[in-house]
Amino acid sequence: MRGNLETIVGAMFAGKTSELLKRILWAKHQNKKIIVIKPSIDNRYSNEKIITHNDLSHECYSMSNWETTLKKFVFEKSKVDMVFLDEIQFMDTNETLKNVEDLLNKGIDVVCAGLDQDSRGKPWETSSMLLGLSDKIIKIYGFCNVCGIEATKTYRKTEGGERTQVGAANIYEPRCLKHWEPR
Ligand SMILES: [Zn+2]
Repeated sequence: MRGNLETIVGAMFAGKTSELLKRILWAKHQNKKIIVIKPSIDNRYSNEKIITHNDLSHECYSMSNWETTLKKFVFEKSKVDMVFLDEIQFMDTNETLKNVEDLLNKGIDVVCAGLDQDSRGKPWETSSMLLGLSDKIIKIYGFCNVCGIEATKTYRKTEGGERTQVGAANIYEPRCLKHWEPR
C-alpha cells in the first residue's frame, strides 16, 4: 500500500514543529521506526535537533542535500515506517518532491512541516508542491502580535534582507491580515 503524506503548514510561531513533534511521539509510542530530517540551513538552535519555540525537542538528521541523505539511510519499508521532514520550505523543490514520491511508493508514511508563505505573502515552492501531493493537510494559525486574533501571515519587522533568513522572534512575528503588509 502507498504511504500516507501529511503536511502541516502555517505562519511562523504558529506551532508547526510542535505539531510535528506530537506526531513523532505518537509514532514512537507505537514502536514505529522513524527518521526525522531538517535542512541544515535551519541551525538557529541546534544542528542535530528539531526544537520548538517552547523548548521541546527531538533528535534529527541535519540534511545538506538529498544525495547524501539517501546514502546515509536505507529508505526501505522493512527499515523505516515513517519519515518526518521539518522546515520543508528550505528543501530543494524538485529533489524533495521526487524523493517524497519515492518514499510514498515504497509504502513509507511521510509527515512534513513548514511555512506555506514567506513574509511577502508569496507561496514557498516546496511547501506548495507538497501540499498539492498531500493526502492530509493541517493548517495551523498563530495569534497576531498586535491585536491577538488569529494570524495567517508572517510579518517582517525589519525591511529588506534575504527571503530565506531564518526566523527568530526579533525579525519576524505572526500578524493578522489587518496588521500585516508584505516586506
Ligand atoms: Zn491583528
